[in-house]
Amino acid sequence: MNEQTNESQPTPNQTQPAQTNQNKPALAGVCLVCGGECAVGDTMCARCDGLMRGWLREYPSWLDSLHEFLDSTAHYGGRQPGRVNLPSAPTPIRLPVLDHMQAIEDAAIALWRRLYAPPAMPWATCDVHPPLVDMLRACAGSPRLRRMPDIADFYHEWESMVRKTLDIIDVPPAKHGIGRCPNPLCGVELTAAVGAVSVACPVCGNTYLVADVRLGFLRECVRSGRAFTAGECAELLRECGFQCNANTIRSWRKRGRLQPVGENVKGQPLYRLSDVHGQVVRRDSI
Ligand SMILES: [Zn+2]
Ligand SMILES: [Zn+2]
Repeated sequence: MNEQTNESQPTPNQTQPAQTNQNKPALAGVCLVCGGECAVGDTMCARCDGLMRGWLREYPSWLDSLHEFLDSTAHYGGRQPGRVNLPSAPTPIRLPVLDHMQAIEDAAIALWRRLYAPPAMPWATCDVHPPLVDMLRACAGSPRLRRMPDIADFYHEWESMVRKTLDIIDVPPAKHGIGRCPNPLCGVELTAAVGAVSVACPVCGNTYLVADVRLGFLRECVRSGRAFTAGECAELLRECGFQCNANTIRSWRKRGRLQPVGENVKGQPLYRLSDVHGQVVRRDSI
């Protein structure tokens, strides 16, 4: 078989069965990760399986981003409005990021060995393993992944690693941070392609409308008094359905209806989103 073993699987998120009736208990297994129903002989349901394979497939590009962040001059959340660079003494390399990348490699080796190295071949467990990206690809395509009796340990290890990775990396240019996952048990920072309508959370697997996530972010910023540049305020408000552009905000400042509360490292004035939002609402209600 030359082709990668990609089992055809139902798309995650559409496979939530309605409450199962108990007629055929012998035909269902229990997902060791989420406790939901799964196919007999499997240890993980299609949804958890899809999420975990998705992480393994995403990791090569996340690793590229982590690599960029080893450089201490890159700044966290660079493209996200509202993050201000703190002046701090630069270190040549970010050791926590390096540690994290090592942890990812260790986890990939452990999973790959679990799936591919026969325990009866002790030399195979010594030092020999394929390059990281190849291991990730092999594991993501392995049909045995969803039959591992100890899958829950691996799943949870990868899940918390994904959280940490997404916390560290800046997002690729085509994607941007849009706000936190509305699931109160999750709350991970979500990213979406520019113009995307819906977004699937890579950690909890739920799907949300981008507009809802943005509105949640807007509320959070209004409540907390966070400040942004005129352009960032306008962009966020527009995404939430308000008519607003940066020039209007600047003209409000000239007319004394709005006062900046500080400036960013580039010297651009920062406005409290709550103030700008207040002006927009006031204008629209007149
Ligand atoms: Zn599951
Ligand atoms: Zn989530």
